[in-house]
Amino acid sequence: MRGTRGRPVRGAADAVTFLGGHGLKTSEPIHVRVIDELRRAARPQAQGCYLHRERSVYVRTFRAFRRSGNFLHLPADRVLYRSVITHEVGHAIAACNFSVAPPTLQAQEYIAYVTMFATMPEKHRQRVLQQIPGAGFRCHANAGSSPAAPNN
Ligand SMILES: [Zn+2]
Repeated sequence: MRGTRGRPVRGAADAVTFLGGHGLKTSEPIHVRVIDELRRAARPQAQGCYLHRERSVYVRTFRAFRRSGNFLHLPADRVLYRSVITHEVGHAIAACNFSVAPPTLQAQEYIAYVTMFATMPEKHRQRVLQQIPGAGFRCHANAGSSPAAPNN
């Protein structure tokens, strides 16, 4: 499929670059496995998952992702597919940097979502955030400037 073979690598690189810029690194390999259907460990609507015991990220193929129809209330496209991979690799890198065990689900998701939104192209980020209801925050922090370190 034209244009999709590099998405997992670029999505993973987005997470490595973003989190590395904030001092979160890993010296161990993270395996990214692209498969048609996720294992039973993932929720049925999930597009990817990270299994720490295997140090592996599992993501659906782009074809399976696109077939799902929507992601974050937008049509499943190549940019959002790359963001799924960034999110899951964000989980993997964060997992290697938590100093509390086990970290809460909220802490894990916070790092993965900050990584995903901070690396998502502005146009897509704006469109996704417009789909999420809420009053927002009073202060405007730059999502890409300083995520809280997961080990703090
Ligand atoms: Zn997640």
